[in-house]
Amino acid sequence: MTTAQTDTGVLAGDERMLIDGELQLTGSGATFEVVHPASEQVAGQATDGTVEDMARAVGAARRAFDETDWSRDVEFRHHCLMQLHDALERNKERLRRILITEVGCPVTVTGSQIESPIAEVEHWAEHGRNFDYLVDNGVHETPLGPAQRKIHYEPVGVVGAITPWNVPLYLNIAETVPALMAGNTVVLKPAQLTPWSGTEYGRIVAEETDIPAGVFNVVVSNANEVGAALSADPRVDMITFTGSTATGRAILAAGASTVKKTLLELGGKSAHIVLDDADFTSALPMAAMMACVMSGQSCIMPSRILLPRSRYDEGIELLKNMMAGFPVGDPWTPGTMQGPQISEGQRQKVLGLIKSGIDSGARLVTGGGIPENLPVGYYTQPTLLADVDPDSQIAQEEIFGPVLTVTPYDTDDDAVAIANNSIYGLSGEVSSGDVERAFAVACRMRTGNVTINGKSHFGIGSPFGGTKQSGLGYRNGEEGYKEYLDAKTIGMPA
Ligand code: ADP
Repeated sequence: MTTAQTDTGVLAGDERMLIDGELQLTGSGATFEVVHPASEQVAGQATDGTVEDMARAVGAARRAFDETDWSRDVEFRHHCLMQLHDALERNKERLRRILITEVGCPVTVTGSQIESPIAEVEHWAEHGRNFDYLVDNGVHETPLGPAQRKIHYEPVGVVGAITPWNVPLYLNIAETVPALMAGNTVVLKPAQLTPWSGTEYGRIVAEETDIPAGVFNVVVSNANEVGAALSADPRVDMITFTGSTATGRAILAAGASTVKKTLLELGGKSAHIVLDDADFTSALPMAAMMACVMSGQSCIMPSRILLPRSRYDEGIELLKNMMAGFPVGDPWTPGTMQGPQISEGQRQKVLGLIKSGIDSGARLVTGGGIPENLPVGYYTQPTLLADVDPDSQIAQEEIFGPVLTVTPYDTDDDAVAIANNSIYGLSGEVSSGDVERAFAVACRMRTGNVTINGKSHFGIGSPFGGTKQSGLGYRNGEEGYKEYLDAKTIGMPA
């Protein structure tokens, strides 16, 4: 690998982590490389934090929680988070270039990864300022006479936030800002492939806000042990995590000995049930587009399309037309809708799963390999697999690539049964000409969230969480804020 040129817009982020108010490198000076997935070139370095660095960060967060007013001063937190909002806004174009450099996300579709999370900072600042932290629970009869009860919502304490690489700035913010606004102190551990969306966040907090030393810390590292150390540290009260189900299980186990509160948003294998009365020309091109825009690196994307046998060929044709002509290419070029996979390892995993699908009898309709015109960069062709056995590996495992599987069904009951045949339950979709019929089907899907006719379930104002092995707890909405608070009931003489 050679060093990246900067004329494409590639931009290196800050190498330093933030511990106890100081931007710093790890003691040994060790670094790890950050590779731009569209060029396969090294774009720069990040400091390679250690388990000891993590222990110092947790100690700082513990002290800041136990010994400062942060947990009690709502107005000051509001002030600091509004400063953060304004600072992120000032740094927006820099953050966008860093995001594209790390992830390879097409510039055209960065809005949900840059503008949305910045707006969410303001949302949580206002939500937290207006939240009722003391609620009168009324008078209750007890054997010793009437008791007046009040519910006092209090921050959980030190929150460890562990984030993945697919939407790094968005999740760094989604996992930490409501926690901070609720009065917790935080240690953020970003993913190895995307350290800069974390280090830049730390730099902005340190240089452009009044957030006190220790309240917010960022530790980057190339080692999984550093995230594991955070999730096992007895001084940490809560872990909030987004990532794979396998890592989620490890985090739950690591927190068991101290009974840590754990908020998990894990894998998905969501189904899109297309009912026989649906408008195929609107539902299916949109489904194909959603599968490709983030190179399929999205946990909520419905990757299993269930088509009625009576309209099966028509549906496949519409999906194929969209996927075969999909604009894949250089993420810096406006109009590109699908960039590369984030790494060669991820691309090989996707290609391996496609092969396993074909080996298990699925029919390759389009794609299946590397685009011929894009030999450099970790690109994958948009891929459509039909006649997929719902029990096969490709129908059961999360692919995280621009791949749709299609399975035919006969009745609505069959469709619901196939949709529910999964260890996951994150999101889902139903398309139908009859919204009430679609709603009835949506209610029978064992999944956390459902979109009907393209009208998305996802947004800051509504709870989002997975069922089954897709997660525990909620982000967003009132439920999402309360995750970062304990409800303490205080009984007193009436
Ligand atoms: P992927 O397999 O796609 O990299 P992961 O779920 O393993 O996704 O990674 C998500 C985040 O979890 C990353 O920040 C990673 O460093 C972290 N991580 C990985 N292993 C562990 C672990 N055992 N304990 C805590 N965090 C971990």
